[in-house]
Amino acid sequence: MEQAIQVQPAQTQTQAVQMPTLPDMESKTAEEVLKWAVDTYGKKVALSCSFSPEDVVIVDLLAKITKKPVVFTLDTGRLNPETYDVMDAVRQKYNIKIKVMFPKTPKVEKMVRAKGLNLFYDSIENRKMCCQIRKIEPLNRALKGMSGWMTGLRRQQSITRTDMKKVEWDSVRNMVKINPLMDWTSQQVWDYIKKNNVPYNKLFDLGYASIGCAPCTRAIKPGEDERAGRWWWENPETKECGLHADPATLAKAAAGQQPTQAAHA
Ligand code: SF4
Repeated sequence: MEQAIQVQPAQTQTQAVQMPTLPDMESKTAEEVLKWAVDTYGKKVALSCSFSPEDVVIVDLLAKITKKPVVFTLDTGRLNPETYDVMDAVRQKYNIKIKVMFPKTPKVEKMVRAKGLNLFYDSIENRKMCCQIRKIEPLNRALKGMSGWMTGLRRQQSITRTDMKKVEWDSVRNMVKINPLMDWTSQQVWDYIKKNNVPYNKLFDLGYASIGCAPCTRAIKPGEDERAGRWWWENPETKECGLHADPATLAKAAAGQQPTQAAHA
């Protein structure tokens, strides 16, 4: 008989935290936004790094601001070998510590025994369960006690990201969310990588435009949306793993607003 698995909400803090007054940084550069974040929050602000092109750009920018940036990554157990390669390349080039977060073994074992290893192809509920256990719970653990987190989100990436700001309040996690590359194009990101010789995931040379777990990511065709290779069997409005979407954003996406086509490197 199939075991029931409870998916926990993404919230990490049960007590409401009053939203502070945040500066409007929409006209500021990525460097200015990051410097503000590090100056304001010090060790209490962390980069959630998936080693996307945007994330490695932020690591490079951060390394010019502070010798000891707080960087963590989520090892879901289903990553591509190329992602581990870039993880080590970044660690060595910048001589920084990267805190690797793993999912809780008993939760993964219970899920896989009940639903199978590739459960995510069977339903959106299964996919969200897998993302919850392998990504969101470890993310919430990594962010526990932090005042803010930095991400490589860009407005062009997705229908669910058009309303996000460079500095905004994460009402799910009750902390500041800093998105310094929000107004960058994909071309700007790649130009920065090449110019500064930043290590990047070699799957991007093979037609991948957005990389997550191996079984949930594929290369895209020319002209396809940047995130078309992520959970390609689902509709665009469901394509968030819960790491970044808030209810208002998803509601807007579900209402049918179309994403901007992004430039590809
Ligand atoms: S991206 Fe796929 S394999 Fe990775 S956590 Fe989500 S459902 Fe699981």
